[in-house]
Amino acid sequence: MSAQNISAKLARVIRSIPDFPKEGIIFRDITTLLLDAEGLRDTIDALVAPWVNEPIDLVAGIEARGFILGGALAHQIDAGFLPVRKKGKLPCETMQMEYELEYGTDIIEIHRDAVKPGQKVVVVDDLIATGGTAEAAVKLLQQAGAEVVAACFVIDLPELRGKDKITALGVPVRTLVEFDGH
Ligand code: AMP
Repeated sequence: MSAQNISAKLARVIRSIPDFPKEGIIFRDITTLLLDAEGLRDTIDALVAPWVNEPIDLVAGIEARGFILGGALAHQIDAGFLPVRKKGKLPCETMQMEYELEYGTDIIEIHRDAVKPGQKVVVVDDLIATGGTAEAAVKLLQQAGAEVVAACFVIDLPELRGKDKITALGVPVRTLVEFDGH
């Protein structure tokens, strides 16, 4: 499917919920995309297109929607899967990265032994907004010795300029559809 077609399809299939989880936010709900077998396959195929012939060691999915997409992506390109989790969920020794939220901060973690130095890693989440979460994930993986080859997202909210934070770390960003607003 062409880039234009997948973008148009995603714009139709992804559901938008105004004022969720709070006033002023339009929540871009991918559960309607996940229910669509053909849409889900086309999305995964489009996301991995650049790496079908390039060896990738690990796909790092950001909790929680990045786990759903990341598992499928990893399978498609014969890579392992690395969960980037919210603080306190991983059972073994972890490395952490703090990042800013609108109010306060949050922490993401990976297992300290999850990445071997020089491994090629692709980061995935459903959506990039301000880019704070993905930036923290990329920094954490780079600190662990990974070569972060790219970060990919189904949805970009370009007004929030999150992509810039990731490219500033030397990591190219791949997105499939853009939505206006926050
Ligand atoms: P950010 O760190 O600002 O780039 O936010 C990205 C994270 O928040 C991702 O894990 C998204 O799933 C979630 N998120 C942020 N804004 C939205 C939105 N408008 N609709 C759905 N999810 C969102």
